[in-house]
Amino acid sequence: MSPANTLTDWQRLEDLATAAFGRVGKSMTEQRRAVLLAMWSTKSVMTLETMSASLDVYHTASRSSVARALVDFTDVGIFRRIETRSGYILAPTRTAILLVCRSCPSVVIVEMTALDTEFASLASSYEFRVKLAAVEIVGTCADCTRQISIG
Ligand SMILES: [Zn+2]
Repeated sequence: MSPANTLTDWQRLEDLATAAFGRVGKSMTEQRRAVLLAMWSTKSVMTLETMSASLDVYHTASRSSVARALVDFTDVGIFRRIETRSGYILAPTRTAILLVCRSCPSVVIVEMTALDTEFASLASSYEFRVKLAAVEIVGTCADCTRQISIG
């Protein structure tokens, strides 16, 4: 389970993102910072729609520039695209299992460093070197399961 977001986490994330963009000759613009802050503030999958709506609250950003920012963050490894939800999350930095709810935007990230060796050994049998492993498991989260059994 991820700990509560703190200011320190934000500064670390902002530094990571600034460095990641720096490595590809790009910089952390005000708009990218706003997109990163919106992503950091949520624990859910952000789609282009929810990200645009959340940015509209305090400043205007065109849909196409928000879409570009989401792709830029994904390209430098700060966001991860969740195909089954057509959205994005903050990318895990360690081996992780992603529990993706199909009924709500919740994604639980469970870090599983115990699986590092398993994944590396599996991949090496295909002569493949693992940089980062993340497995998506799609299903129903605890809250949604409770609602189904009540309703
Ligand atoms: Zn759910």
